[in-house]
Amino acid sequence: MKVAVVGAGIAGLHAALALESKGCEVAVFEARCRLGGRLQTLDGYEAGGEWIDADHRRCLDSLDALGLAVARTEGDYRILRCGRSTIGPDPVMRASKQSVDRAAALLAEKPDPELDGRTLADFVAENAADPWWPTVYYRSDEGDDLDRIGLLGWLHGFRHYLVRGETDASAFRVVGGMGAWIEALVAGLEARPHLRHVLRGVIRSGDQVWLDFGAEALAFDRVLLTLPPRCLERVAFEPALSPEKREAIASCRMSRAIKIALVYDRRWWEDIEWSGLLFADSELQQVWPALAAPVLCAYVCGDDAEQWTGRADPVADALAEVGRLVPGGRAHFVHGMIHDWLGDPFSQGAFSHLAPGYVQGPMKHIAPPEGRIHFAGEHTAEWTGFIEGALESAERATEEIIVG
Ligand SMILES: Cc1cc2nc3c(=O)[nH]c(=O)nc-3n(C[C@H](O)[C@H](O)[C@H](O)COP(=O)(O)OP(=O)(O)OC[C@H]3O[C@@H](n4cnc5c(N)ncnc54)[C@H](O)[C@@H]3O)c2cc1C
Repeated sequence: MKVAVVGAGIAGLHAALALESKGCEVAVFEARCRLGGRLQTLDGYEAGGEWIDADHRRCLDSLDALGLAVARTEGDYRILRCGRSTIGPDPVMRASKQSVDRAAALLAEKPDPELDGRTLADFVAENAADPWWPTVYYRSDEGDDLDRIGLLGWLHGFRHYLVRGETDASAFRVVGGMGAWIEALVAGLEARPHLRHVLRGVIRSGDQVWLDFGAEALAFDRVLLTLPPRCLERVAFEPALSPEKREAIASCRMSRAIKIALVYDRRWWEDIEWSGLLFADSELQQVWPALAAPVLCAYVCGDDAEQWTGRADPVADALAEVGRLVPGGRAHFVHGMIHDWLGDPFSQGAFSHLAPGYVQGPMKHIAPPEGRIHFAGEHTAEWTGFIEGALESAERATEEIIVG
């Protein structure tokens, strides 16, 4: 069977390997001039996805099988609020998050479908005496402002927290970076992926599916599309996808999260006994150090991310803001980079989240195949938003294709 996999992010590469192992003749097509999609290692830091939770078994198994090691996340978060600094949340912050988590745990046991109309922002406001810390914490997880996040969808993911240890979230990073993982996956493929192939159209004709890449059109028995939802919307389908599928794609929301990397000549924060980890009441809500390189990454989400990308010199502003929050690094600064995943034409957002109304509405139509066209990518998975979800979706789609 001739199968095309479109999109060489981790979902596409994981699926391509699995399909080859089942005897399919696989061709991988990628729009960019590089592989990995939203995983990209630069100068020893991660521009996109970075952390692996301790219960992300598919990720850990894949890395283990490829002979790649992971490193535990070390160090305490400094929290800066209203000019006050604490190591970890103070008792008031901790109590506020605990009361949100307790209320969520009660609802998560048997979530009422009616909750789909509500937002996480309302839920936090109702359940926390001081909503600041739970808002900062969950905003960082969701990659967007909490008024965009549906309560039912969030509870769906929250169930995992109920059976986890305190340090299981963001537990690991890949030694050698995500780039090493991508390289190892590609090395296992029989056929090299085709870069600079932007999918423009999909035409179903008899038992074949034709892919239109502008300069050429190629026919396959089956096609697996791993494009993020906004990219999928730009592809012309002939005949059109079902109205249910189109609605599911159109209403699958992407988080607005960007990263700014500040590259220094040394890990200056270690001189002042700061772990480099920080949450603050600043638009640069979260800061952390790269695994080994002298780089601090800053994370900006939601409206603040849109605002930050519109600045004349976002890197200079980030450097100044980190200097204001924790002075001492400017003399060691070498250069910086902004990674704007919202403005990137081949992602158009950082990762998917479940908006109000989506779970009870169009979500059930996002993953199923339409004839010989199959769909994967983190946005089609149970582990929505995560690398684990990308792998989960690849395994589900591979099974669909093989079973027929
Ligand atoms: C800033 C940021 C931080 C993150 N942090 C984490 C984290 O800590 N932990 C975690 O688990 N996850 C994290 N994620 C999410 C994680 O990176 C993604 O869930 C995962 O990488 C998605 O993989 P994918 O294969 O589904 O999609 P992608 O990696 O987006 O792959 C899709 C591919 O399709 C290609 N494509 C798009 N349009 C076309 C077209 N028309 N024709 C051909 N190809 C096309 C794209 O170029 C891309 O290579 C983060 C993401 C970002 C952006």
